Amino acid sequence: MMEDVKYFIVLLFASSISPLKTQYRIGGLFNDVVHQVAFQVIINDLNNENLDSSFEFIPDPFNASYFNSLEARKGVCTLLERGVIGIFGPSSLHTSNYIQAICDQKEIPQVEIHYDSKIDRNKCVVNLHPHPNEIFQFFKHLIVSLGWDKVVVLFEDNESLLRVSPLLELNMEYGVDLIFKQLEKDSTGSYRQILNILKKMPEKNIILDCSINVLEEVLTQAQQVGIMTDDYYYILTNLDMGAINLEPFKYGGANITGARIFDPKSERVLEINDKILDILRIPEEDKEMWTMRLSTALLIDGIHLFYNVIKEMTSVQNEIRAESLDCRDFNSWKFGYTLANQIKGNDFHGAITGSIKFDVEGFRRDFNIELLELTEPGLIKVGEWNTMKKVLHIKRPHNEVVEEGTTTEPNLFNRTFKVITVLTDPYVMIKQLPDQLIGNDRYEGFGIDVIHELSLLLGFNYTILEQKDGVIGNLNRNTNQWNGAIREIMDGNADLAITDLTITSERETAVDFTMPFMNLGISILYRKPIPVPPSLFMFTSPFSTSVWVMLGVAYMLVSIAIFIMGRLSPSEWTSPFPCIEEPEYLINQFSIRNSLWFTIGGLLQQGSELAPTSISIRTVSGVWWFFVLIMVASYTANLAAFLTVETLVTPFKNIDELARQTDISYGVKKNGATENFFRDSNVSSHRKIFNFLREHPEMNTKDNEEGVMRVENENYAFFMESTSVEYIVQRHCSLAQVGGLLDDKGYGIAMKKYSPYRNDLSTAVLKLQETGKLTQLKIKWWKEKRGGSTCSVSSESASAEALDLKNVGGVFLVLFLGAIFALIGSFLEMAASIYKRCKSSNLNFKEELRKELAFTLKFKTNVKEAPMKSISDTKSI
Ligand code: GLU
Repeated sequence: MMEDVKYFIVLLFASSISPLKTQYRIGGLFNDVVHQVAFQVIINDLNNENLDSSFEFIPDPFNASYFNSLEARKGVCTLLERGVIGIFGPSSLHTSNYIQAICDQKEIPQVEIHYDSKIDRNKCVVNLHPHPNEIFQFFKHLIVSLGWDKVVVLFEDNESLLRVSPLLELNMEYGVDLIFKQLEKDSTGSYRQILNILKKMPEKNIILDCSINVLEEVLTQAQQVGIMTDDYYYILTNLDMGAINLEPFKYGGANITGARIFDPKSERVLEINDKILDILRIPEEDKEMWTMRLSTALLIDGIHLFYNVIKEMTSVQNEIRAESLDCRDFNSWKFGYTLANQIKGNDFHGAITGSIKFDVEGFRRDFNIELLELTEPGLIKVGEWNTMKKVLHIKRPHNEVVEEGTTTEPNLFNRTFKVITVLTDPYVMIKQLPDQLIGNDRYEGFGIDVIHELSLLLGFNYTILEQKDGVIGNLNRNTNQWNGAIREIMDGNADLAITDLTITSERETAVDFTMPFMNLGISILYRKPIPVPPSLFMFTSPFSTSVWVMLGVAYMLVSIAIFIMGRLSPSEWTSPFPCIEEPEYLINQFSIRNSLWFTIGGLLQQGSELAPTSISIRTVSGVWWFFVLIMVASYTANLAAFLTVETLVTPFKNIDELARQTDISYGVKKNGATENFFRDSNVSSHRKIFNFLREHPEMNTKDNEEGVMRVENENYAFFMESTSVEYIVQRHCSLAQVGGLLDDKGYGIAMKKYSPYRNDLSTAVLKLQETGKLTQLKIKWWKEKRGGSTCSVSSESASAEALDLKNVGGVFLVLFLGAIFALIGSFLEMAASIYKRCKSSNLNFKEELRKELAFTLKFKTNVKEAPMKSISDTKSI
């Protein structure tokens, strides 16, 4: 058949080529006969449609093998020698890198039409096939909108694994569990083994990525093993899924969804396809099976694009001269880069695949992907995704079974809601752009992003309206009438309301709310505490009063202990005249005055002339000096801390203190949930605040912004919701939140009472919460956008605290134990000395001890009669 086809094509072109026109040879490297024929048919059509053009294309298709790089090189080099100005193909990825390298070196534009997962593109390559990342963004959003939390990803080979890798983001961003399984053939060459494994798994949501050549076989075998039933949901990622026969899978019950970027049943496509099939001599009854594939569609649009660019270039530049190039030298074609860049920069509307645009990197951008679903009448389009807008309009998933006779909630898909908002930072704000924007584009903020995310999940459209008077909604208890955005919802002028809209029981009687998308409580916004100049007696700050008192007590006790020990210790009684061997009396250096002096000398680390000789006084001195060492070190360290931090004074620390004082005035936003909170609260301080607010209505503000301004410029505190306070203190560094939260509540989206959309919206809000999207948005609007985090560093102020007994108690304990131990020691010293004396002089020990003690307790005298014995006892140690 191929010979017949070639003959037919040669005849076709021989008749149409005119020798008077500039002829541009266009090379093609195809291993697919459909591509070869399509290439020639389209070029022939273009030449015939543009008879008055100054140039024409000569197709030069080359049959390139699928895998053989050497053959591919031979093909490219032959084409280059013949002077082609562009090369289409190859059809396969295997030889593509090799051909790209040659085309790049020779600067010959190369137009590719197959999947390529590489994340950079060569300079002369233009690939019309969208990058897998772009396509899988769509599948990612589809999975999110279907609410899947567990997915089995069935991939065919390494190339396929690379393609599906963007799905990993599902796990990172939305916590979706992904189980990757390779679609391997078993020993019998079938896929049943892996499909049986799948059957045993509890997961029923499957993403299948495989080539179109095996897709039908895989689905057939899946049906055979029994996993094409009601509880299974398949997403087929092959954009050619419509080309296989899906008829047998329509009735099994499994949901089969897929995507495409062109409609193979459109009139234009059928017409071209017919022509190709005629040349291929496909019998009329078999044509049904020859649906046009994406690569053919891209080839056709690519040739049109190429023709269009050459037409534009020749009209400006007169002539583009083709050249014969030799693969063996380093010469290149001088028009090549310009031509490749022109193709990439051209915004072209392809007759089959629609808009063809490239980004600076050479990747396709801004195109539509259609969402398909297999139904009994066949494959139908159920949604659409634009790669720029990233909005997926999708129907409710099939596996939500609706029982007969029950009423169902209407679907949000494709509905358009009017969303009313009230401008409040950072929930809804006007964009700070110089251009005059219109429609939804004018607004941005946390609330706007929440609505947008919900629209992506549920597939609805929305128009943002603005409540001009800035009133969220309050019930006038006299007239029993609501105002503000709540009123608009009640009157049906808006479908949803979103802003810092607090859910309250009163509002709940008028409208319905979704689950809260943010939690908060009322708090106080006030100026940051002001630093006060240090006091004259700031040197006392490092120790608490109790530590100072204990220090004094310790000093006195230790001094007295030394005095007593001095009297008790025999070695402290020394001769006043060291030269006299047997003095008549002895003196003691540790009088009470000397003891006090000795101890203070130690405390202030100055020492004294006094040198204790007895072991007990030396022991207590050692313990005292150790105590002093620790206390002085602690004092010095804490004093340094006190000198470096500023002392801050806060006029009030909580709502009770604020309610008690009269110097600082305060207020709330008029007609807001905060004002109503004080009105309805029974807590005495809240009542006090409310009475003040009622008597001084001028203290209340129109909005949060006015409140913030008053806090900054007056002696004024503003009651505000904590999330708003958090936002303000990030940007106004002189302001801070004072005290904790007065209550606990949330913001919700309001809608008409008994709205049928409430459940879906609430579920979607929960989903955003569970997937961390709301946290991400909060970080974006609080910490990143519009000067976020400006004050976060300075807001943490350092502080120093006086050391208390609990900090230094241990060292006091050591001191007192040491003193008691030394006191006992000195008593023993004295007893031992008397015992010795009594033994040598034959005296009564008890009598002598009693006398000695009686003398010791006579504190008045510091002079003692010398004992009859030798003075060796009193010698210094
Ligand atoms: N979120 C409040 C409301 O829904 C407005 C602010 C406030 O009262 O502090 O009315």
